[in-house]
Amino acid sequence: MLEPCYFYLCPDPDDGWILHKKGCYVLEFEEEKLFIGSLYTAQQALTVARIRCSPVVYCSDCLINKSHRQVKKSAPQKAKSVIAQRHFNDDKKK
Ligand SMILES: [Zn+2]
Repeated sequence: MLEPCYFYLCPDPDDGWILHKKGCYVLEFEEEKLFIGSLYTAQQALTVARIRCSPVVYCSDCLINKSHRQVKKSAPQKAKSVIAQRHFNDDKKK
């Protein structure tokens, strides 16, 4: 089950707004922030944020980097289990 998270918008120094999740270290330094609401996914928060402000982009620290790291970690574990099964079959033949 997914638990809801609080999402905030901060003004982008260049142009537009940046979407943050509660707990992001960037929020501690921002004086101006806009509370979006309590939502289950970043995608949902982005949709709500774009109704109020635009353009809106994901924060590269709390919403982009973490999801990429999780995908990379799970991939090598699957490859290891395939190799272990091949060794087991070789032992049976002897
Ligand atoms: Zn952030």
